[in-house]
Amino acid sequence: MLAALLDLVLPRTCCGCDLTGFLLCPSCRGLLDAEPLGRVCPTPCPEGLPRVVAFSSYDGEVKRLLLAHKEKGQLGLTRPLGWALAAAVRRADLGAVVLCPVPSSRAAVRQRGHDHAMRLARAAARHLGVPAERLLCPARAVADQAGLTTRERAANLAGALRATGTPHLPVVVVDDVMTTGATLVEAVRALAAQGHPVAGAAVVAATKRRVR
Ligand SMILES: [Zn+2]
Repeated sequence: MLAALLDLVLPRTCCGCDLTGFLLCPSCRGLLDAEPLGRVCPTPCPEGLPRVVAFSSYDGEVKRLLLAHKEKGQLGLTRPLGWALAAAVRRADLGAVVLCPVPSSRAAVRQRGHDHAMRLARAAARHLGVPAERLLCPARAVADQAGLTTRERAANLAGALRATGTPHLPVVVVDDVMTTGATLVEAVRALAAQGHPVAGAAVVAATKRRVR
């Protein structure tokens, strides 16, 4: 209701490029309809990283759209970003799978007011006609990953997640962004410890300097 009222009094600008009159302009919308980038691997590639497919590199308009969705609660972007994530999952060509989002800490979800990765997972799952399940949850608090080296990130995240649920379909771990891959490695470790078969991972965007 408040958002609808604000739309009436504030000029709306595109979250990707600031063009007036749109939340997502046709040009930025077109970027999310493009062909997925394909398989990506960070440098260095962490041991235990599953096959990861990214829709895009993490820069430009796509980066701005992801940040607007995650940090500014622009939920009108959930569906188009979810479609981009679905395109990455489809490119991975893994058959019948269940999508499992990387969980955020409770504090982060509270601060943002929503669970961005779960929203994207659900939107992608609807588009693909597969289930999305919250199979992972934080096992303990972790330090902020920003500013940590690859090795420090891996140490910070070791044992940070735990998995629940009964193993059935192969799991595709999904997230908005991959940076070093350390979070995905920890997600795969936790899922495997619970007996879940992990088919791979898909992200909307991967940090560009790490794309091969
Ligand atoms: Zn735009």
